[in-house]
Amino acid sequence: MPIFFASDIHLDETRPAITERFLQFLQTAAQEGEALYLLGDIFEAWIGDDDDLPLHQTVRDALKQLTQQGIPVYFLHGNRDFLVGNRFAEETGCQLLPEAIVIDLYGTPTLLMHGDTLCTTDTEYQAFRIQSRSPLYQQAFLQRPLLERRAIAAQLRATSKERGSLKADYIMDVTPEEVVAQMEKHAAKRLIHGHTHRPGRHQHLLHNGESVERVVLGAWEDSCLILKCTAEAQQLIEV
Ligand code: MN
Repeated sequence: MPIFFASDIHLDETRPAITERFLQFLQTAAQEGEALYLLGDIFEAWIGDDDDLPLHQTVRDALKQLTQQGIPVYFLHGNRDFLVGNRFAEETGCQLLPEAIVIDLYGTPTLLMHGDTLCTTDTEYQAFRIQSRSPLYQQAFLQRPLLERRAIAAQLRATSKERGSLKADYIMDVTPEEVVAQMEKHAAKRLIHGHTHRPGRHQHLLHNGESVERVVLGAWEDSCLILKCTAEAQQLIEV
């Protein structure tokens, strides 16, 4: 039975076709899987587990249905949905993962990350990341009324989109040295991440001369890719 990985689905009420494809995946292929790993930015925005958006309720229900069938679903935060919390986990049966974790993927120690921490040349974003991940900042944000949080999130997205379009290409991609550093730190032979919206497979050379693999998941836009892993092969496939 395969293990599935997906990230950067960016579920949003303005893109019902993407939601439909994700729900369909949860109700078909995912049910034949051994586990599903969601590696961040599954939601375009998450402003707190108390958000009552119908889209979020629909997705919560679909995830719960899957976990209730005994299929484990793991959720690792992205930069858009880092406020997904314990209440979400309880309501869906998903298990929240830390920002970096090594799993044994059919015998290969595999590092899982969202990917944003690998983009070290984007110092502006990294500064925001440190601020927004602090418990105090999060507590203050979550205490605001939903409407206010929604407005702040929309503004942050607009600013980040504007700044992103001005940044050089290399800034928006991972720093190869950081990839190597993280893989050595975690003693991983493979890395799976998303965030950059540049699906593909890359080889990296560790300092000991060993070659390791990095698999980048794609964002769900025109094509909707997931990584399907079995003991024999790992494939980025369309769902
Ligand atoms: Mn991201």
